[in-house]
Amino acid sequence: MSFNINSIIRPNIKSLKPYTSARDEYKGKEGVFLDANENSFGSATHTAYNRYPDPIQWEVKEKLAIIKGVKPTNILIGNGSDEPIDLLYRCFCTPGVDEVLITPPTYGMYEVSANINDIKLIKVSLTSDFQLDTNGILKAITSKTKLIFLCSPNNPTGNLLKRNDIYQILNNFNGLVVIDEAYIDFASEPSFTLELDKFPNLVVLQTFSKAWGLANLRLGIAYASEEIIDIFNKVKPPYNVNGVSQSLAIEALNNEEKKNKDVEKIITEREKLKKELLELPYVTQIYPTDANFLLVKTTNGNAVYDFLIEHKVIVRNRSNVTLCEGCIRITIGTEKENATLIEKMKIFKS
Ligand SMILES: *Cc1c(COP(=O)(O)O)cnc(C)c1O
Repeated sequence: MSFNINSIIRPNIKSLKPYTSARDEYKGKEGVFLDANENSFGSATHTAYNRYPDPIQWEVKEKLAIIKGVKPTNILIGNGSDEPIDLLYRCFCTPGVDEVLITPPTYGMYEVSANINDIKLIKVSLTSDFQLDTNGILKAITSKTKLIFLCSPNNPTGNLLKRNDIYQILNNFNGLVVIDEAYIDFASEPSFTLELDKFPNLVVLQTFSKAWGLANLRLGIAYASEEIIDIFNKVKPPYNVNGVSQSLAIEALNNEEKKNKDVEKIITEREKLKKELLELPYVTQIYPTDANFLLVKTTNGNAVYDFLIEHKVIVRNRSNVTLCEGCIRITIGTEKENATLIEKMKIFKS
């Protein structure tokens, strides 16, 4: 396979002359700044936020690059993962013409973003054990298929996709293979970020929202070849990540140990909760998970969900999702939260 990024970029994006912001044109930190029409007297807040933030979030990328074993130029930071997902559509898919492939049951944003961008979706369901139907996927690809979204560990099923299946897709598809690794910190296998050099058609998504505990800040990450990142940088809003989020991301990256300890605690709690849930008569199956949640099959998912809501415990009802009949998705909470969940679930009568 010979992959060429120029053959899949949208023509209008290829010829786009990007906006250059004040902070793109002059990058120095010292001086009298009269170039960006900011309020030089400060802000109407306690702390001053009057200056525009770094448009390419260089310090965040440098720290992240060291932790992840990639180059800063292989990284895009987005306003949540929603932004890199949307950028993939806008940079590589022509509305009303191109197609994208997804593998249900999976994360809902790939489909919503396709609909927003008027991109046709091809759906190839996972197998009954929630793995890729690689032959089905390779057969469903057409000359208009630009992206394949794979989610590993997958949401809402929790499992890792088999590595060899992913290699097979990477090796046999001439568009971009996007691997969403939102839950990779909880997984027992290494990230695909370490394979960027081998696969020019690979894009890996990660996020600060899960293991790093920063969902409120909206910080998503895409890792890819420098060529792909350059295209994203041309199209993204100039100051897409605010300065407060950038400095808190740096604070978190300086404290990776806290994240790792939380992950350990969450995994311990996950295994405990799994055992307790299996003792409930109406729980029929708990699926293997490499994430911070459990997909739990019950005899009546809607009833369990409604009952828990009544008792102020909120889980995600996945009963109506492909291959997930009767299932609820439970995020692993603190010890106390999980104890409350079990206490309530024990009084449910099926
Ligand atoms: C939670 C989640 C994300 C993270 O989204 P953010 O916009 O970064 O908060 C991305 N992908 C999947 C599959 C998720 O479950």
